[in-house]
Amino acid sequence: MTSGLRLCMLTAALAATLALPAGPAGAATPEQQLDALRLLGEDRPAKALEALDALPAPAGAEEARWRARTRAEIAARGADDADAARRREDALDAARAVGPALLVEADRQYLLALRAEHDDAATLPDLARAALSAYDSHCKALAPPQSDCEYRARWRLLQLLASHSRGQRAPAAARQHARAALELAIAGNDGWRQAWSESELALAAGNERDFTRAHAHLERAQQLAARENEPHLTARLALVDGNIGQDQGDWTRARSSELRALSVARQAQLARYEAMALVNLSDQSVQSGRPAEALDYALQGLVAVKPLRSKRIERALTHNAMLARVALGRRAEARADFEALQAAWSADGAIGQQVTAMREFGDALAKVGDLRGALELHHRETELSRRLMEANRETALAELRSRYDSEAQQRNIMLLERDNALKTAQIDNQGLLRKLWTLGAGVLVLAMALMLLLVRRVRETNRALEHSRAKLRVQSERDPLTGLANRRHFQAVLQDSGQADKGFRGALLMIDIDHFKHINDNQGHGAGDQVLVEVAHRIAAAVRSETDTVARWGGEEFLVLAPSLHRHDTEALAQRLLQAVAGTPVTLADGSTVRCTASIGHAVFPLPPHGVTLSPEQAVNLTDMALYTAKSQGRNRAVGIVQADVADAEALRALESDFERAWVEGRVHLRIDAGPDAPPPGRAPAGAAITA
Ligand code: GH3
Ligand code: MG
Ligand code: MG
Repeated sequence: MTSGLRLCMLTAALAATLALPAGPAGAATPEQQLDALRLLGEDRPAKALEALDALPAPAGAEEARWRARTRAEIAARGADDADAARRREDALDAARAVGPALLVEADRQYLLALRAEHDDAATLPDLARAALSAYDSHCKALAPPQSDCEYRARWRLLQLLASHSRGQRAPAAARQHARAALELAIAGNDGWRQAWSESELALAAGNERDFTRAHAHLERAQQLAARENEPHLTARLALVDGNIGQDQGDWTRARSSELRALSVARQAQLARYEAMALVNLSDQSVQSGRPAEALDYALQGLVAVKPLRSKRIERALTHNAMLARVALGRRAEARADFEALQAAWSADGAIGQQVTAMREFGDALAKVGDLRGALELHHRETELSRRLMEANRETALAELRSRYDSEAQQRNIMLLERDNALKTAQIDNQGLLRKLWTLGAGVLVLAMALMLLLVRRVRETNRALEHSRAKLRVQSERDPLTGLANRRHFQAVLQDSGQADKGFRGALLMIDIDHFKHINDNQGHGAGDQVLVEVAHRIAAAVRSETDTVARWGGEEFLVLAPSLHRHDTEALAQRLLQAVAGTPVTLADGSTVRCTASIGHAVFPLPPHGVTLSPEQAVNLTDMALYTAKSQGRNRAVGIVQADVADAEALRALESDFERAWVEGRVHLRIDAGPDAPPPGRAPAGAAITA
């Protein structure tokens, strides 16, 4: 069924008279004065602003802020021309200049919301909510709290939201906003606003088809309004009554209420209410099949609304006129109305309204038999609906996507947080491990240092041991008095120079100091020691130290082993030794001198002519026998065994048992060399070569 547009959801369009409502004390307060000017501004903004300027200077900063805001409020309802826009900006600037920052911001949002309502803009609810929350921030910070804090602006914002929700067919939300607005009005002890909010609750209940409640609210509203006696409120309540009647299907009541509203508005010169009543009347007339009357109402409305420049009322009137014109068969005019409306709504992005208008226009065309026109509109509507659906779907998709994105992000954040916690634990563990390692390393280093110390100590001990062992070895090998090799060491050397099969090889010279006992006896044992040391030095100096070994064989006996000496060299060495000992007297520590001589026995092994194999001991024995012979021949001389008739062990035993006899019998040949100043020999066997 074709239905025109009616304006049951218009916001507070306030009083249009300068007759100010009286306060409790009979005089109007500054706020009440501003309320009245605001109402005047709804229909005649220029006049209201003029009156505002004519007011005496504000009493304080707060009053100055109210006045600046009221100026901006009135300007916000003004025309769209550049002049009005500039006035609006100036008013906003003035409002900003006074008042605390939070309030200035709240006022700014409030004025933006008012302007959005005037422009029929979709941003209205967001702006209104932002403004409400800004006022809440300011009011919550107040101490002590004020229940009526900024209630006028907050009330108006809640009213805007309530009527917007109703327009969106959300009566429950509308009811909540209206209820909140009513509470503010009660807190402000503001009867006018209470009545208004009650009428809003009545509209919401009507939309919810709860007519009992709707009438109850309306009744309360009328009781409150009766006390106020203010034309805006009276016109509003008549309009509300008409709307509820229409919702109920009580057309008679609806029509009489709308006509009452029109009459009140015209009487009080309330252009906005006049236009709104005409919107609703034209709608009713179209629906009741009185198109001529409907067009008449619509055209009257368009005249009334023109100075207000209210897009919403103007479009509603045009729409109703369009439907009336179709019904009247003035299709060209109707189409012009239609296209103008389509362009306006399209410019505002109001696709929903476009679709509604298309359907209603199409239905109207069909009704008057223009099926082709109706079909064309149907196609346009289908196409637009498709676009609307697409747009809706895209919006929904975008919403879904952003929700999914934010959920995914949330999940990622959770994962990251978990990951982070894990990593932190890992880092902690690593830290612990590192500490343990450090501790371990410390212990290791300490242990290593200790070990190093121990090793060094052991090495030092070893070195000391080695040193003492070497010392011991030296001590065990050396004669402590003379420093020469001792008998034990010499025997070892002798063993080494003897070969298992060929026997001992090399020259041996045994030296014995003559009458040493006398030196001890005459000069003392110490002197004897000094002589021993000196003689040892002289012997050592006479031999080739690299190849020959000198040992202290007994008390005052020395033995020389010269492994590579032949007979003549050995004889020469023996002579050198005689000279070395006896050639120079020994000077003692006390400065006295001791003259001493030595006797020497020597031989070179193996002994010619047989070269019999002899052990080292046997060789030393034979040499000793030669020494004995030197002693017996008068001392201070050397006796060398030149050759011996020794071919086997038995011959050797015989020789050893009586060496001198063997010498006499010629079984052994000796060479005798006399030492320096040696006396002649005692006896010499026949055939013995004696050199001296
Ligand atoms: P001969 O000419 O026959 O060799 O007579 P001698 O006195 O040299 O020989 P004898 O064997 O009778 O005496 C050796 C002495 O040497 C006896 C001993 O007291 C002394 N003597 C041995 N060893 C040492 C020593 O280390 N220091 C001192 N001062 N005397 C020593
Ligand atoms: Mg001796
Ligand atoms: Mg001696």
